[in-house]
Amino acid sequence: MGSSKLLSLLVTLYLLAPTSISSDVSLSPEELTQIPVKFLDFAKKPEIFYWMVNIRRKIHENPELGFQEFETSKLIRAELDQMGIPYKFPVAVTGVVGYIGTGQPPFVALRADMDALAMEESVEWEHKSKVPGKMHACGHDAHVAMLLGAAKMLQVFRHEIKGTIVLVFQPAEEGGGGAKKMLDAGALENVEAIFGLHVSSLFPVGSVASRPGPTLAAGGFFEAVINGKGGHAAIPQHTIDPIVAASNVIVSLQHLVSREADPLDSQVLTVAKFEGGGAFNIIPDSVTIGGTFRAFSEESIIQLKQRIEEVVMKQASVQRCNATVTFDDKSFYPVTVNNKNLHEHFQKVAADMLGIQNIKENRPLMGTEDFSFFAEAIPGYFYYLGMNDETKGKFEAGHSPYFRVNEDALPYGAALHASLATRYLLENQPKTTLASGSLHDEL
Ligand SMILES: [Zn+2]
Ligand SMILES: [Zn+2]
Repeated sequence: MGSSKLLSLLVTLYLLAPTSISSDVSLSPEELTQIPVKFLDFAKKPEIFYWMVNIRRKIHENPELGFQEFETSKLIRAELDQMGIPYKFPVAVTGVVGYIGTGQPPFVALRADMDALAMEESVEWEHKSKVPGKMHACGHDAHVAMLLGAAKMLQVFRHEIKGTIVLVFQPAEEGGGGAKKMLDAGALENVEAIFGLHVSSLFPVGSVASRPGPTLAAGGFFEAVINGKGGHAAIPQHTIDPIVAASNVIVSLQHLVSREADPLDSQVLTVAKFEGGGAFNIIPDSVTIGGTFRAFSEESIIQLKQRIEEVVMKQASVQRCNATVTFDDKSFYPVTVNNKNLHEHFQKVAADMLGIQNIKENRPLMGTEDFSFFAEAIPGYFYYLGMNDETKGKFEAGHSPYFRVNEDALPYGAALHASLATRYLLENQPKTTLASGSLHDEL
């Protein structure tokens, strides 16, 4: 096919370059520019597009929560088997790590998360979730389909890939820290850069958005139990009222961001849970509160965590209560920081594919992503793939029961994955002088 021929030509030209291979590859800028264009053309071919759509819909119908993505993982492996792509499994329970290319360095990774959310789908359509109480409301079904789409295209050009592209299908992004488990299991061994994307209804289909540096917050969850002494609501003097104590704790917690944090250093502390009492005339023994805290630097998040504990304990004691505070370490995610060099790479590749006018800069978000664990370990880059299209109705934000994916975005995601990795390898070859003989052997 045309695109295959073009890539063959480009890479052949490149391989025939006689001596030093460095970041100054022998492909001309125009030739490099063509790679993302051709991948997008390829991804838009009906046979690739509908194949991705079908995969996405199949996963959408059978959503699975974190570390339970057994069927999703099975489907991914079946597709990789069919394509002849070798992989490691299981990695972190349900995770799959595939490999395309020479098996030699450099290694560059592409990531997709696989898990769904514990919520009921409210969208009435043919491929609605068939599992009560579970829904792909964050688009991870589309993420899997796009990474498989990229794999399908890359496998066609596998002999022309100048290194190894690592496909990371990870479990449990939604609070389970699946990325951390994948990392601990060695999923990124030898990998020097990783790219990840997320669908977004904030940007139009055919556009992308990102920023260099911190892009998503660090965050965690806490729970505090405030213990008093229950009794009759009309005889408070014989009780130690944990409801009043917990109320004061919550008000004091609000001062941490408003009075102690630098106003220019974004932070959030939300108490989202308050459980205590069950009757109008009984003061309960205890109250449980809980919530989330977010910040954009490691320093700030550590400080916030420490102060939450102090404020809960001390403020509770003012009201004669005892308190315990627990932090859910499993759901603690670091700041997602986009590597500056990868930002430049992304801007070039995405502009070649979509045009500079479709590369948007997004503001940092207080949301969290466990991609941060990958980007903490090696240079990483996380970007948003636009999917908004006003002619197709309103696309709700993630985690809404009315969340829909605009499947027209799938070819863009697949082509961006494939292009970012292919170009990364072409433009980041080790700076060693290879004998032209060995290059010819590869041909
Ligand atoms: Zn989500
Ligand atoms: Zn998500």
